[in-house]
Amino acid sequence: METKIVLKSGKEQSVKRLHPWIFSGAIKKIYGEPSEGDIVRVFDNKDNFLAVGHYQPGSIAVRILSFSDVNPDIDFFRQAVSRAYEYRKAAGLTGNSSLNVFRLIHAEGDGLPGFIADYYNGVVVMQMHSVGMYRIRKELAGIIREILGPQVTAVYDKSGSTIPFMSGIKPDNEFLFGDSEPVIVTEYGFRFKIDWIGGQKTGFFIDQRENRRLLGEYAKDRRVLNMFGYTGGFSVYAMKDARLVDSVDSSAQAVELADENVKLNFGDDPRHTSIKADAFGFLNDIRDKYDLIILDPPAFAKHNNVLSNALQGYKRLNMKAIEMIRPGGIIFTFSCSQVVNRENFRKSVFAAAANTGRSVRILHQMSQPPDHPVNIYHPESEYLKGLVLYVE
Ligand code: SAH
Repeated sequence: METKIVLKSGKEQSVKRLHPWIFSGAIKKIYGEPSEGDIVRVFDNKDNFLAVGHYQPGSIAVRILSFSDVNPDIDFFRQAVSRAYEYRKAAGLTGNSSLNVFRLIHAEGDGLPGFIADYYNGVVVMQMHSVGMYRIRKELAGIIREILGPQVTAVYDKSGSTIPFMSGIKPDNEFLFGDSEPVIVTEYGFRFKIDWIGGQKTGFFIDQRENRRLLGEYAKDRRVLNMFGYTGGFSVYAMKDARLVDSVDSSAQAVELADENVKLNFGDDPRHTSIKADAFGFLNDIRDKYDLIILDPPAFAKHNNVLSNALQGYKRLNMKAIEMIRPGGIIFTFSCSQVVNRENFRKSVFAAAANTGRSVRILHQMSQPPDHPVNIYHPESEYLKGLVLYVE
């Protein structure tokens, strides 16, 4: 029997505003004993149907799949994946010979909470963040093959580290279809090697694509520091016209990847250097060395209760860069923490600038690209924020 969840009076409001999460504190009573990942139906205190979704014990108790009283069967998911693909087509991300890497499914942004899938020149890498989605991974892989057809040569499931550990499920990372060595993708004509097995997340930060392109326009003749460089995404775009590019990361593997990707596009070019170092130490020692600095750190805050520490971290980091950059320098600064909103991020960069006393202008405000859509009813899905600063 399907489980029924009844909300406390008043707690239906956020569901009526189409917010896709139900927090455990909103629940009055659970009829039945749902297991993690089960389909549950949610009702208001007067027994009116509100939504259907995946159940999960913990703070987010239900991830909503539909606000209509439907059966989320295979056909339901087929339609949702098909809509996501049609939307990428409309955004010009498919059938483009200079671009064969994009995010196919972006969880809540595509009405599929818990489900991420990235397309890498034939290979689809999936990451499930809920047990409900993990249980149907094989069906979802089949749907992706059906909809994308021969464009898909392999599907890899990399949910090993993303399923909530409380569930007790320990997934193996594995190919669900086909098999493939790391592939080379093309992004706006630049080439990158994607290693989904050894790399972070699904292997590449696709979400910075448009910001990398913007950076390419500013790099001409500049001395560029790509701090937190990972695969060297920003470095490759900068290398086209820059005077020199230093890629810095604390991970040895990332330093190698950045080197490899720069070589793939520019051969053994002496303008590029890859350096293994900690950001805070490195930034202490760079006065007037660079006139373009990229700061793209990992998420400093994963939970609300560490928000103030995260804001302090952004402030310290940006302060160092603003203090050290050459006059007339440009800073591309980012935050990918979901709990840090645009306003908070801007305030911490403002506080950093004020501390240095230098004149700082905002040239651009950056965000995430259309294949990482923001669900307008779910402000949390707008996670990537960035500013381009001009420092006098
Ligand atoms: N800019 C990258 C993504 C950065 S991900 C891109 O466009 O693809 C964040 C990176 O920061 C990771 O590679 C991680 O290894 C690195 N990192 C984390 N902590 C660090 C630290 N204290 N100093 C330097 N690098 C760090």
